[in-house]
Amino acid sequence: MKVHKGDLVQVLSGKDRGKRGRVIDARPAERRVIVENLNVAKRHTKPRPVRDTSRMGGAAIIPGGIIEKPMPLEVSNVMVVCPTCNQATRVGITIMEGKDGTVRRRVCKQDGCGEVIDR
Ligand SMILES: [Zn+2]
Repeated sequence: MKVHKGDLVQVLSGKDRGKRGRVIDARPAERRVIVENLNVAKRHTKPRPVRDTSRMGGAAIIPGGIIEKPMPLEVSNVMVVCPTCNQATRVGITIMEGKDGTVRRRVCKQDGCGEVIDR
């Protein structure tokens, strides 16, 4: 997958189109990523008692409220933001000679940039 955990990405579609956020989880098998604070689903929960296991009597209450949970986005709906030119870009792969042999690095495909995205 060309989007990795920790990347800054820009959303291309949906209600958060144009917004940017940090990838907090990548799920290559589903080709989806979870982006911090984006594509958030709000779930309203009621307060509910839980049985107290300490035998002190009474019941603990889990407070209700609104839980905001970022939902996975399809990788095709986000673009990596290049840390060098600060633009959402398509990503290419380049093979470089490293200390431990050849390594694959992602590169920015913006005209005039071409910088390596992976640090
Ligand atoms: Zn760039």
